[in-house]
Amino acid sequence: MARTPLIAGNWKMNVDHVAAVSLVQQLDAALVRDEHDQEAAEVVVLPPFTDLRSVQVLVDGDDLMVRYGAQDVSAHEPGARTGEIAAGFLARLGVRYVTVGHSERRTHHHEDDATVAAKASAALAAGITPIICVGEDLAVRQDRRHVEHVVAQVDGSLDGLSADQVAGSVIAYEPVWAIGTGEVATAADAQEVCSAIRQRVVALHGDDVGERVRVLYGGSVKSSNVAELMEQVDVDGALVGGACLDPEEFARIAGLARS
Ligand code: PEP
Repeated sequence: MARTPLIAGNWKMNVDHVAAVSLVQQLDAALVRDEHDQEAAEVVVLPPFTDLRSVQVLVDGDDLMVRYGAQDVSAHEPGARTGEIAAGFLARLGVRYVTVGHSERRTHHHEDDATVAAKASAALAAGITPIICVGEDLAVRQDRRHVEHVVAQVDGSLDGLSADQVAGSVIAYEPVWAIGTGEVATAADAQEVCSAIRQRVVALHGDDVGERVRVLYGGSVKSSNVAELMEQVDVDGALVGGACLDPEEFARIAGLARS
């Protein structure tokens, strides 16, 4: 079964709601110029929460092809949760994707696999596709324990999800040592772990779910390395940080991910 590649740009805590308008307009113009086909490779931006309304109005009003998501979601129903954002609120803003368990959330906000699984479940219940992030830090990689570490994160982060929910989710392998460092994993490194993730999904939920789930690589992806990463049989796309803030570069990455 062919899996549609996904190129998701994580803006992190960059770009306010005013600047978001021009960044999305420039990206969309570049995609139109390049005759990008969203069915061949989906291009998604993940702005901060405060930008989402501006992005929604722009995308809907001008019928832009760019799709958008969020960077985090509450695991809880609306109610007494100061500072949190419910999945239903995001769905009403047209959000299609949300990252859960990004390494910056795991590190700075002490999110564990159980929290990640609860957030993924809340997103799915609201009709939003979670991009479930996993990945080892440098010490684990140097100990050569990266595959077992990531597989354990996959087990914990998918806990409680049904086979259909897993099939409809995205799993992003992001080695922490490669995020924002310019240190990209080799294509073989990415394939080794992305393949292990897919095999784990097969072991948990069977071949069909393993064939359907999309597995991304993230960590210093650029137009100069995306093509080789995308050639790997178990790499279905990329989660892009720094490079997605340059609309021309992000459009180039999207173009190279299409084939
Ligand atoms: C990320 O934030 O998920 C990421 C992969 O960042 P960068 O591309 O800058 O390494």
